[in-house]
Amino acid sequence: KKQGPKKPDWIRIKLTTGENYTEIKDMMRSKTLHTVCEEARCPNIYECWANRTATFMILGDICTRACRFCAVNTGMPTELDLQEPERVAEAAERMGLRHCVITSVARDDLQDGGASIFAATIHAVRKRLPLCSVEVLIPDFMGSEEALKVVMDAKPDILNHNVETVERLSDRVRAKAKYDRTLELLRRAKTMQPKIPSKSSIMLGVGEEWDEILKTMDDLRAHDVDILTIGQYLQPTPKHLVVEKYYTPEEFALLKEEGLKRGFSHVESGPLVRSSYHAHEQVQSAQKN
Ligand code: SF4
Ligand code: SF4
Repeated sequence: KKQGPKKPDWIRIKLTTGENYTEIKDMMRSKTLHTVCEEARCPNIYECWANRTATFMILGDICTRACRFCAVNTGMPTELDLQEPERVAEAAERMGLRHCVITSVARDDLQDGGASIFAATIHAVRKRLPLCSVEVLIPDFMGSEEALKVVMDAKPDILNHNVETVERLSDRVRAKAKYDRTLELLRRAKTMQPKIPSKSSIMLGVGEEWDEILKTMDDLRAHDVDILTIGQYLQPTPKHLVVEKYYTPEEFALLKEEGLKRGFSHVESGPLVRSSYHAHEQVQSAQKN
């Protein structure tokens, strides 16, 4: 089996358990909720939860797709749970969230891809926490404009949809998604709601070239994307894509500069940056623009 390079020091994670960490974990279980923070074993979990940011995964934890970098299980999804939006809102309230990210698996089995549940969750969180910003990280809804409109009409504070990788590697890394469809979705979202900041994320280390990263940034800007996050891909299990390269913190800093030069209003770029990392600051900076 192919082996990637050795994990560098800057990727090792310091684990410092926060005070209310266990309590929050128990609450998630009792409400049968899923967070990406836990399931993706996100290295930022203590920091994010302490800063009152969390990412909920709605629409179940079984995905109809099987991207080669992703640890979420693939299979036949569970039945729709219409109470879920309310339970997410309750949990968000108990955590006292200031920034709530809502994401989901790809539900290609559903007519609207789950868009109506996204909208209901935005409304439910708003109702309980009027001051909490709500970011949605949506799947591509198979390119459905109608489904996207349902989400945009609920007016999230940030519309996030990840391009994940450069054009050349897109088919290999995330079969069933399409590079052009991602860009088109981002443009449409902006056309529907010009005031809502749009956001996307690139994951590095799956074999892309430096120039291709820059080209991806150009493509995102050409589709009016406001916020960019760039992070290091880490292989979740030996069955997943091998890490081709670990970028240094200096390279991430350079990419941040390249992004800002291109006119993104906010760029988070670093080895442990994940889509929702420091998301609260991103809302603030996007709103200042
Ligand atoms: Fe959760 Fe996102 Fe923070 Fe990771 S970066 S802990 S997934 S909110
Ligand atoms: Fe993972 Fe999303 Fe791909 Fe499903 S669509 S496998 S949840 S990255």
